[in-house]
Formats: sequence, C-alpha cells, structure tokens
Amino acid sequence: MSFTVPELKYSLDALEPHIDAETMRIHHDKHHAAYVANLNKAIEGTDYAAWNLEALVRDWKELPSSIQTAVRNNGGGHYNHGFFWESIAPNAGGKPSGALAAAMEKELGGFDAFKAEFSKAAMGRFGSGWAWLSFDGKSRKLVIGSTANQDSPMAEGLTPLLGVDVWEHAYYLKYQNRRADYLEAFFNVIDWGKVEERFERVAG
Ligand code: MN
Repeated sequence: MSFTVPELKYSLDALEPHIDAETMRIHHDKHHAAYVANLNKAIEGTDYAAWNLEALVRDWKELPSSIQTAVRNNGGGHYNHGFFWESIAPNAGGKPSGALAAAMEKELGGFDAFKAEFSKAAMGRFGSGWAWLSFDGKSRKLVIGSTANQDSPMAEGLTPLLGVDVWEHAYYLKYQNRRADYLEAFFNVIDWGKVEERFERVAG
C-alpha cells in the first residue's frame, strides 16, 4: 500500500489572515508531500508496507533498524500533518465545550490555564517539533507536552487530541522568528469540534 497526501477540506487562503495561503501551499504541497514520498520509499517492497500509518508511527521501534529512522521521521511527518490539517478550520477558534471543556476545567484549571501551558510547551520546544494536548489512557487524564522533529505522542502511549507544528516552515514566511505571534494566531483556527470528537472517542 502506498500513502498519499490528503486533500485539504478548505482552500489555501481560507485560514487568512491567521495562516497565509503561501505558507499553506508550501507546507501542504511541498513539505507534507515530501514526508509521504519518503515514507513510501522507505517501506516499498518490505513487509511493513502492509502496516497502517498509525501502527508505523506508534511502533516504529519494532521495525528493522535499516528503516526505523526514515519511518519515524516521515511516517510521523505524514501522520502529524494530516492530523494538523484536520485540527484547524476557517471560522473556528474560540473555546472547547462539553466533556473536553469539563476535563480541562477539572484537570488543567480551565481554558486560559490550558492555553498558557500549551503555549509554554510550544515556545519551549527548542528547534523543530510539535506541542500537544494528548489523552493518557492509563491515568485517564489530559496531558500537555511537546515532541522533537516529527515524533508522535502515540509512540509514548498517548492519544493526541491537538497538535501545533512549531517547525519554522509552519510560520516563518508570515511571522519570521515570532513563534509567539504564530501561536496566538493558531488559537484562532483551532477546530474545537474536531478536538472534542477525538476526546470523546477515547475518553467517553
Ligand atoms: Mn510542518
């Protein structure tokens, strides 16, 4: 099986002015496409070509060492970006509601505290990586953290609910070195309905 770049459910300029069309075009059509091409190249002709994406990303340590790094980076890149495109939308932002809002209130001290801690994780990730809101199935609690490069919380046994790409390619054209401004803008495009759906699937 060969992986393909998913089509965006909105136009490249739909997230303006928060995320600009040119960044979206290069990010989706070039960066994401490269992860997909390199993932396919790594697993082509191996037994692992039959694995689904989630298994490749979660269990990359079980792969032969010859393809571990390529799958970790490019499988993670493919998964994280597909996840990211679905986490954002035009006319979005605001705050979560329902069970997720209640869990955030109880475990993290509310939305504002969540936003502060999530932003801190994103600002504190040195170099390239992601900040995450995840669900820990063992403690049944929300967890905020970050990963380097294209690593996934799934490889740590967590279920990601929301992730923000803090690689410079995600924001440099519009925000240059101002990662904090990009993060503030990101909050205007979060599709909380999607994040709530993910939360309810694992925690409900
Ligand atoms: Mn990216």
